[in-house]
Amino acid sequence: LKDSRESLMIVSGFAQKYFTRYLWEENEGRTIGLGYFRERSFRDDILKKFEVGFAPDGKTPFTEAAQRQGYKLDFLEKTGLTIKRDDWLRDRFAGRVMFPIHNLAGRVIAFGGRILTNDKKTAKYLNSPESDIYHKSRVLYGIYQAKREMTRTDKCYLVEGYTDVMSLHQVGIENVVASSGTSLTPDQIRMVRRFTPNITIIYDGDAAGIKASLRGIDMVLEEGMNVKVLPLPDGEDPDSFAKKMGASGFQEYMEQNETDFIQFKTRLLLKSTENDPVAKARLISDVIRSVSVIPDSITRSVYIKECSRLLGVDEEVLYTEVRKQKHQQT
Ligand code: ATP
Ligand code: MN
Ligand code: MN
Ligand code: MN
Repeated sequence: LKDSRESLMIVSGFAQKYFTRYLWEENEGRTIGLGYFRERSFRDDILKKFEVGFAPDGKTPFTEAAQRQGYKLDFLEKTGLTIKRDDWLRDRFAGRVMFPIHNLAGRVIAFGGRILTNDKKTAKYLNSPESDIYHKSRVLYGIYQAKREMTRTDKCYLVEGYTDVMSLHQVGIENVVASSGTSLTPDQIRMVRRFTPNITIIYDGDAAGIKASLRGIDMVLEEGMNVKVLPLPDGEDPDSFAKKMGASGFQEYMEQNETDFIQFKTRLLLKSTENDPVAKARLISDVIRSVSVIPDSITRSVYIKECSRLLGVDEEVLYTEVRKQKHQQT
């Protein structure tokens, strides 16, 4: 198994180099792929740092090139780079810009491929299937490029997508990883904890992003880590917003708008409660539910103080509610 995992990584590494060379050196790659990244204002140094590429369009140009170099069809199929049926082969990622996914050691283990149009019919991103080297619930995009800075700053930013990670690097923020569309898993959070216990969620400023942030908050708290949120304006994601604001504008926005999770939830929920006492009670119980999953009692008490202040509710009442919620969780 170890040998075959190594073979899958070797074939993935070959594919990354092939796609990257194709992006920079071939006419099709330069015109379509590089043109696409430049259109989105990505700098060359960022494109190189993330080893992005372009997969040539057509039925099997990549598969044929790989086989000519001696790579076995079996491994091309197991990594999902080639789709094999009884009587035909296809390049999985044909005509897409390619985002290699690296493991902690910097080896390529999978890819995300994006179509160049924004037509709604085709899935925008296509990812490698699960394999012996790629378990998507245990991978964070950008972790290899982020790990040094996560340790140095003792902090990790969590975003949704590939281009969000790249854009934050482009404005000088390098301690950033993406869950890449999948909802956050405990394994992913534990991977961050090897470097820092402090996570700030910067998900897309849409309904889906807000919902995912609420879920992410509780997941991070359950692992005993600290969580903050940077809410983005409606319709923006970290990529679009960083490009709109520029490096210093974005960093200033971060400093001014990063909120702890209690404030984030309270503000969000207060918007929908107005002066309705029943709704307010529901809000309190919702915020307290998040507090009650924090394993450490001292940390819990710090947050209860803040809740008490923000919501205007007696601390003792909140403690009673925490006990009730903890009781229900077990
Ligand atoms: P872009 O800026 O290139 O349009 P995005 O990152 O803003 O992409 P979102 O729709 O916000 O795209 O999705 C966030 C992330 O979720 C993507 O970067 C990708 O990792 C993942 N994702 C999105 N759509 C799909 C899909 N159809 N299949 C698999 N993963 C997807
Ligand atoms: Mn989104
Ligand atoms: Mn997005
Ligand atoms: Mn985007």
